[in-house]
Amino acid sequence: GDRSPVRRFNLNNVTITPDPIENQEVVLILTPMARFYQEYWDNLIKLDYPHELISLGFILPKNKEGNAATAALQAQVTKTQKGPLKDRFRSVVIERQDFDPPILSQDEGERHKIENQKARRSSMSRARNSLLFTTLGAETSWVLWLDADIIETPPSLIQDLAAHDKPLIVPNCYQRYTDPETGKPAERPYDFNSWQDSPTAQELASKMDPDDIILEGYREMATYRALMAYMADRVDERDVEVPLDGVGGTALLVKADVHRDGAMFPPFAFYNLIETEGFAKMAKRLGWAATGLPNYKVYHYNE
Ligand code: GDP
Ligand code: MN
Repeated sequence: GDRSPVRRFNLNNVTITPDPIENQEVVLILTPMARFYQEYWDNLIKLDYPHELISLGFILPKNKEGNAATAALQAQVTKTQKGPLKDRFRSVVIERQDFDPPILSQDEGERHKIENQKARRSSMSRARNSLLFTTLGAETSWVLWLDADIIETPPSLIQDLAAHDKPLIVPNCYQRYTDPETGKPAERPYDFNSWQDSPTAQELASKMDPDDIILEGYREMATYRALMAYMADRVDERDVEVPLDGVGGTALLVKADVHRDGAMFPPFAFYNLIETEGFAKMAKRLGWAATGLPNYKVYHYNE
């Protein structure tokens, strides 16, 4: 049959600006997904960035849970893409992983055991990289990494983060819960992977095997890093920026040029860091610094 003519792209014409709506910039939202949460989808479709400028990419493991999540996701995608034009996304790609995740329960307790971290986060890195390298297009201006269990963000998340004009920018990921003492709604920090480095962590790394990784948020490994999770202080100052050395990927906006330059999620120890934290380090080596917004909150599902 006929082959399509050559498609030409001048990457200089793909702008990446603090006013992405005005400049019609395409945002690629990438989500690794082990479980489907309706609250994630409901929040996603409420994002008020023009949907015709949003491409979606998902990757799901090829196991029983992944099959169920794929079916649920597929149903919602179909509903949205057949719905009102203004709600439809530019494009949607759903991928199944071609490698097996480590045999671990997806329960929070098991997932977070320190001895499971290297295998788990290495596998997560490979899933993220597969998704990224198969979906990043010449037209992509921004990549928003958004975990499948982020169930609440401001609808203006994309514009708000992009307005800071930073190569990598990460809001603070919290979790709502009911305080057992008072019975009242409360919130607590969830993601500890956004941090500023410390002399203690550097010292730890200097004595480590190059294949070992430093993990954050574990009593067994006191790093004395400054965690963004604990820097939230003023609800009325959502635009306060802090420089970061490590980032979490629950919600993370990246200028597509950072990925195009080659920054990815190391599935191995990179400067004793792995996955999203290793990504921040790799971006830094390429000249792109990470920024955090301690008072700008997004919320993780409470299992
Ligand atoms: P945690 O919140 O740090 O415990 O990490 P999660 O287990 O929530 O994983 C982060 C993201 O990756 C979530 O969106 C998960 O649904 C997804 N995820 C977890 N394990 C896998 C996996 O094996 N394969 C894929 N494709 N996604 C996964
Ligand atoms: Mn999670």
